[in-house]
Amino acid sequence: MQETDSNKIIPLSYDKAGHKKEDEKVKQALRDSEERFRLISETLPVGVFEADENGSLLYTNTRWQNIFRLSLMESLTVDWIRLFHPEDKENFSKAWFESLHSASSYSKECRIIPEDEIRWINVQSSPVFSDNGIRYVGIIEDITDRKLAEEELRKAKELAESVNEAKSMFLANMSHEIRTPMNAIIGMTGLLMDTGLNEEQADYADIVSQSAHSLLSLINDILDFSKIEAGKLELENIDFDIHTTVESVADMMAVKTHEKSIEFSSIIHPDVPSKLIGDPGRFRQILINLIGNAIKFTTEGGVTMRISLKNDTDSSVKILASIEDTGIGIPQEGIDRLFRSFSQVDASTTRKFGGTGLGLAISKQLVKKMQGEIGVNSEPGKGSQFWFTSTFRKQPGALTAARIPGESVKSKNILLVDKNDSGRESISTHISSWGCAYEEASTGAEAIELLEKAVEKNRPFNICIIAQILDDMTGEELGRLIKSQPELKNTSLIMIVYFGLRGDANRAKEIGFSAYLPKPVKHGQLLSCLEAVIENKANENSEPEKKVLITKHSLLDSEKHNLKILLAEDNPVNRKLALKLLEKFGYRAEAVTNGLEAVNILKKQRYDLVFMDVQMPEMDGFEATGIIRDKNSDVLNHDIMIVAMTAHAMKGDSIKCRDAGMNDYISKPIDAQLLLKKLHQWGRMIRSGI
Ligand code: ADP
Repeated sequence: MQETDSNKIIPLSYDKAGHKKEDEKVKQALRDSEERFRLISETLPVGVFEADENGSLLYTNTRWQNIFRLSLMESLTVDWIRLFHPEDKENFSKAWFESLHSASSYSKECRIIPEDEIRWINVQSSPVFSDNGIRYVGIIEDITDRKLAEEELRKAKELAESVNEAKSMFLANMSHEIRTPMNAIIGMTGLLMDTGLNEEQADYADIVSQSAHSLLSLINDILDFSKIEAGKLELENIDFDIHTTVESVADMMAVKTHEKSIEFSSIIHPDVPSKLIGDPGRFRQILINLIGNAIKFTTEGGVTMRISLKNDTDSSVKILASIEDTGIGIPQEGIDRLFRSFSQVDASTTRKFGGTGLGLAISKQLVKKMQGEIGVNSEPGKGSQFWFTSTFRKQPGALTAARIPGESVKSKNILLVDKNDSGRESISTHISSWGCAYEEASTGAEAIELLEKAVEKNRPFNICIIAQILDDMTGEELGRLIKSQPELKNTSLIMIVYFGLRGDANRAKEIGFSAYLPKPVKHGQLLSCLEAVIENKANENSEPEKKVLITKHSLLDSEKHNLKILLAEDNPVNRKLALKLLEKFGYRAEAVTNGLEAVNILKKQRYDLVFMDVQMPEMDGFEATGIIRDKNSDVLNHDIMIVAMTAHAMKGDSIKCRDAGMNDYISKPIDAQLLLKKLHQWGRMIRSGI
């Protein structure tokens, strides 16, 4: 056999007949194959190696030797694992032996230290099982450049994040510092305005006050925004009544729409469960922001808020809120920019309408925190519809059904008259959920026609609910017309007013209206009003002189009278004070002096609300609450609302009271205004059926 040099052409051997010798052919093929392998291996841009099962190398290509900075001889004799970074050595060996056991390939990024310099490599190899035993074959890539670039990027990102966080923290601190003196400016200007200023001074003070308010709302926005950016915004998780929250927003926004002479309707679907757990303050904030925008960008027509149920499970609900306006609308290219911070659709809006472009960005973040989405549909010149969803947990054990009306209401036939579709909808959603029959008219003439037809059909309308302003006549005029026609005058009339002026209610009464309710109409108020109208009608013949106009105040008064309150308080001074306060606010209450007496009286009489002192002799408030809530006790109403009265105004106390089964608490000394506000709230909750 002759010595061959793979780079030279091998002379061929022939037999006598001139044929190539068979064994020579085989050898030649082997040489060709080896040459081919060598060529491929040397041209590949990666290191190639072969090792035995202990890791000793049997073959390396030049690229491999370059990466490890070893000669061919060195690579086949030295322990190459020695060159791995101490932190990666064990990891690499582990992967190597694991792949042997599982007979699968592995890929590992690790560091090596050839000649004192750390380099990153990616090793991929697989065990090969053959007649000659186990071998490893694999490739090695030098990934140092990529790793360095990644490291740079990570550092830059960390730096940017920490700068951003520092900026947000600074903003949060600053906004807080600015708010403190701002509150003083607003408070003091208010006091100043009550001191008998002349007209010019009052004007100046008014401007100071208005500017201070808009500055404060701007600061609040910045504070929120920076809190969100710094990841410091935590949502509350408290029990709340979503119907009450929405109705209070509606009341507030109605004032603003009235100032701009546009319509406002609020429709909360009756199947939305009311007793939820979440952050009512933030939910309110999003609503106020979207409705505020809708009002800002609408000069004609109106704004409608709709709250409905999107999803309902045993433990949680997804609420859909939509705010529709008939304002300037938003062009498509502007929509893409909405919800980004500091962005306004058109730079000129800042001059014309004011604002910072932060509201929607904040709303978007808040909605995200409530596991919801936010979006908009809009058509320039026609108006916009902003919507968002939010998820709340349900209060366990709370009855979510709203108050159910009696037969007297259900059997009534009602006519709704309002020029505005959403105005009628805001009432029809409620009365249809109560099972009342109803029809709708958008003008006075149409109303009269329907009323007459109903009489002809012998199914007259019992009640007609009329909006204050119609296109062809006023609500008062329609009322007068109805009362002047003998066959129609038996219909009870309810007037819905946008904003009543002094004397309006009296005039309505003279015309023959039975009730006078402000818009936006509240679910509970409408039901109480219908019940009162029906009751008064039934008593009309027996007590004609007692004809009174039902108003929101009279409803509130009768609600107050109907609320049966029990006070359990051992200290005579505190007892007297609490009773006096309740009386001053128009409520009636009875008192007992300890928990045991409270439990005993609750076994005999039905109450709606108990004020429960926490520390009392004989039996304290916690124990008494435990007995009341115990379904096996003889107390008549286990679900009665219990409000703790506690002198311990510590943070954990509210939780302790709730854990004991109380619904709410009020701390002593009692803040009269807070008590009044809460009494309204509790009253509403009791009426809507907790
Ligand atoms: P701000 O109102 O403080 O400028 P927002 O983030 O609340 O900030 O709104 C951003 C922009 O979106 C507004 O400046 C306006 O251009 C547009 N926009 C928001 N709501 C409406 C709406 N209902 N109708 C028309 N444009 C709107």
